[in-house]
Amino acid sequence: MADTTVMEKLVSLCKRRGFIFPGSEIYGGLNGTWDYGPLGVELLRNVKNAWWHDNVTSREDIVGLDSAILMQRTVWQASGHESNFTDPLVDCKTCKSRFRADQISESQCPRKPSKHPGEFAECQLTEARKFNLMFKTFVGPVEESATQVYLRPETAQGIFVNFKNVVDSTRIKIPFGIAQVGKSFRNEITPKQFIFRSREFEQMEIEFFCHPSSSAQWYQRWRDERFKWYQDLGLKGANLRLREHSADELSHYSQGTSDVEYLFPWGWGELEGIAHRGDYDLKQHMQFSGKDLTYFDDEKKERYIPHVIEPSAGATRSLLAFLCEAFAEETIADEETGKQDTRTVLRLHPRLAPVKAAVFPLVKKDGMPERATAIYKDLQKHFAVFYDEKGAVGRRYRRQDEAGTPFCITVDGQTAQDQTVTLRDRDSMKQERIGVDEVKGLLLEKLGGC
Ligand code: ATP
Repeated sequence: MADTTVMEKLVSLCKRRGFIFPGSEIYGGLNGTWDYGPLGVELLRNVKNAWWHDNVTSREDIVGLDSAILMQRTVWQASGHESNFTDPLVDCKTCKSRFRADQISESQCPRKPSKHPGEFAECQLTEARKFNLMFKTFVGPVEESATQVYLRPETAQGIFVNFKNVVDSTRIKIPFGIAQVGKSFRNEITPKQFIFRSREFEQMEIEFFCHPSSSAQWYQRWRDERFKWYQDLGLKGANLRLREHSADELSHYSQGTSDVEYLFPWGWGELEGIAHRGDYDLKQHMQFSGKDLTYFDDEKKERYIPHVIEPSAGATRSLLAFLCEAFAEETIADEETGKQDTRTVLRLHPRLAPVKAAVFPLVKKDGMPERATAIYKDLQKHFAVFYDEKGAVGRRYRRQDEAGTPFCITVDGQTAQDQTVTLRDRDSMKQERIGVDEVKGLLLEKLGGC
C-alpha cells in the first residue's frame, strides 16, 4: 500500500532544510518545476559527480560531452520524437481536468470525494488523443515554423549528432561510449510524486557504440553494471529490481530493454532504462543529415554502422530514490538528557551526503570556538564541512542527522588538556575520542576519498 505519510514527511523535510523548494513559489508555483536549495544542490551534484566518476573518469572506454540544449528541429524529426514522442491525453469536459489515458487508474478526479476520472456519473471523458511532450520555442525574433525549435526532451540525441566529431577528434576506438549529464524538458500531462515526474529534470546518459556481433554481450554487461551502481550507493536489494521488458513493450528497433526500478513509497518506479537500440539512431541521422556516420575499423579493415547500448538514467529521479531510502525516523534516548525522543535521520551514502562532517565547539567559551574553527578550516580544504556553535549540542547533532551529515566533531573542555575531540557517527550515534591530529586522516579514510 502506498505510504503517503513518508512522502509528506520527506517533502516537508526537503523544504524545511533547504533541499528542494517548489519552483516559482512566491508567485504561487509553476507545476512540475523544482528548485534545489543549499543542501539539495550539493546532493544533486554529488549524484552526478558519482555517476561521472564511475562511468567516465574511472574508465578508459568512455568520454564526456556537453551538447547544446537547443538543436536543429531536424534532429527531432530524425530521432522520431516529432511524430512519436507523445502520451495519450484525455480531457474531462465536466471538471476541465486533463489526464494520461494510460494512467487513469492512478489518477484522481479533482472533485470530492475523490475518485478515479470517469467514476462519477457526471464525468465526460473525451477520446484519447496524442499529445507531444516536447516544449516548443523559437530561435530569433520571428515566430514561424522555420524558426521553431524544441527544448530537448533527452540528452541522447546530442550524443548521436556528435558521434563523428568525437571519433574524428579523439583516438578512441570501438567499443566506446559517450556520456552526457544535463537538463531535459518534457511537458508531462500530469507531473506528480514530488520530483519523480517533473517538466524540467536532469538526465545522465551514455550511448555505448559497439560492433553488432558483440552488442548482445554489451547489453548484458551494462544492465548488470548499472544495477550494481545503485546498490553500491545504498539502494537495498528488496527495494531495487531490474525488470526486463516483455516483447510487446519493446520499441520496434529495440532488441532488449531493462529498467532499473525502485520501490518508492507509492510503488515501483523507473530510475533508469538500459536499451539495446541496434543501429537505429545512427542510421536515422545518416538518412536525415546525409552525412556518413559509419565507423571504419583500421585493423580489421571493416566499415559498419555501430550498434548502440543506451543506459539512460534520471539524476533528479535517482536523487529522490536515494532520499527515500535514506529517510528514517527512530525513537532514541536524547544524547544530552537521556529522555526518549524521535530523531529524523537521512542515512545517505557518504559519497552522496551534501556535507561530510560538522564541527562544533561544545560551548562558546574557553577557547573552544577557536580550536573548532581551526579544525573546520583544515577540513574545508578537503571536503564539504559545516561549522555550528549555536544552541545545545544535542540539537546540533539532530540538525546534522536530518541533513545526512555522516560525522560530527566536537571540541569540549577536555580538548585543551589532552588535544582530543569526540567523533560522532550519524548512523550508530556512537562517539569516540580521537586526537585532534588524527581527525583529518581518519575522516579521509572513513569517507573513502568522497
Ligand atoms: P517514464 O516512463 O517514467 O515517463 P521514460 O521511460 O519515458 O520514463 P526515458 O525516456 O527512458 O524515461 O528517460 C530516462 C530516464 O530519465 C528515466 O528513467 C527517468 O529516470 C528520467 N526521466 C524521464 N522523464 C522524467 C521526468 N518527467 N521527470 C524526472 N525524470 C524523468
